[in-house]
Amino acid sequence: ALKAGVVGLPNVGKSTLFNAITQAGAESANYPFCTIDPNVGVVEVPDYRLDKLTELVQPNKTVPTAFEFVDIAGLVAGASKGEGLGNKFLAHIREVDAIVHVVRCFEDENITHVNGKVDPLGDIQTINLELILADIESVEKKIDRSRKNLKGGDKKIALEVEVLERVKEALYNDQPARSVELSDDEKLIIRDLHLLTMKPVLYAANVAESEVVDTDNNKFVQVVREFAAAEGAQVVPISAKVEEEIAELEGEDKAMFLEELGLQESGLNRLINAAYKLLGLYTYFTAGVQEVRAWTIRKGMKAPQAAGVIHTDFERGFIRAEVVSFEDLAAAGTMNVAKERGQLRLEGKEYVVQDGDVMHFRFNV
Ligand code: GDP
Repeated sequence: ALKAGVVGLPNVGKSTLFNAITQAGAESANYPFCTIDPNVGVVEVPDYRLDKLTELVQPNKTVPTAFEFVDIAGLVAGASKGEGLGNKFLAHIREVDAIVHVVRCFEDENITHVNGKVDPLGDIQTINLELILADIESVEKKIDRSRKNLKGGDKKIALEVEVLERVKEALYNDQPARSVELSDDEKLIIRDLHLLTMKPVLYAANVAESEVVDTDNNKFVQVVREFAAAEGAQVVPISAKVEEEIAELEGEDKAMFLEELGLQESGLNRLINAAYKLLGLYTYFTAGVQEVRAWTIRKGMKAPQAAGVIHTDFERGFIRAEVVSFEDLAAAGTMNVAKERGQLRLEGKEYVVQDGDVMHFRFNV
C-alpha cells in the first residue's frame, strides 16, 4: 500500500495529529493489505463521487479507498550524522511515497520549542537540511561508484554521472532534488537512490485551537505559505488538538462540533485529500449492488493491472473491461441509460485507466 510519512521536529504536534489519524482510522478488516503497526494509521479517502455512486446504486455496502500514514517521530538536527536515532528515521522516510511535514504554528509557553521559540521557517530548514545532507551522501557515493565504471567510456554511465552532478549541485545549494528539472528518463536513472528530497512534500501548519477558523491571519502560517509557494508545495493549515477532539466524535456529534467551530469539514479530511493527491494517485470505482467501492491505482496503469488491485486473479484472467466515466454515469443516472447513450465502452488490455472510471471486469478463472 502507498504511504505518506509524517515528519517534523519534536513538540510540533505530530503525535497529536497522528492520534487523530489513528482514531479516525479505517476498519482494517476492509483493507487486508494494510500494515498493522502502531506507527501506521490507515485512512479512508473521502470522495464525493463515491457518495454519488452510492446514492445511484444503493448497494449493501460502500468502501472508500485507503492509504497509510506512517509516524516518523524523532527527527532532530544532526540526524544525518546519526544524532538521536537519526539514521533509523531517515531509513523510514526512504520507504514512504510522500512526506507530510508538520510545522509548529501555535504559541504556547508551556510547550517547549526545541529551539526556544516558534520559528516555522527555521524548523522547516532544520529538517530539510538533514534530508539534504543524507541525500548528498547517497549521491556522492553513487558518483564515486559510477566514475569507477566510467573508465570504459560507457555513454549511459556518463549520462548518469552528469545527472547526478546536477542533483548534487542543487543539494549543495540547499535545494531539494525534486527542484531539479529532469526528464522522465533522467528520473529513472536516479530512481534507485530513493533520494529523500525527491519525494513530494506538503506542509501541515499546526495552528492553535483558537485560530482554526481564520488560519490566514496567523503570521506563522503566512511564512510557511511563502516558503512552500517558492517550491510549489501545498500548505494545509490544521489544528492537531482540534482534530484529536473531532476524531473522537461520530455522526451528529461530529457535525455539531464542526458547526460550532465554524468548519465545513475536518482538517483531517483536507489533509487526507491533499496527501492522496500528492501521492499522484488515481481512483477508479466498481459499482455493484453488493458493493460500491473506490480503488487506488497509479497514473498510467492499464486495465489488467488496475484489475489486479482488486485481485491477482482478475489480472491473470483479464479479458475485457466495461468502462463508463463517473461524469457520464452520474449524468445518465443508471448504467442502462449510459449504455443507451453509447457511453459504456468495452476496453481491452491496452486501455489506460482514467481517474473516475467506473469499471466492470470480465475475466477467466
Ligand atoms: P510531537 O513531539 O511533534 O509529536 O508533538 P506532540 O503531538 O507530542 O505535541 C507536543 C505538545 O504540544 C503536546 O503537549 C500537545 O498537547 C501540544 N500541542 C499540539 N498541538 C497543539 C496546538 O495546536 N495547540 C496547543 N496549545 N498545544 C498543542
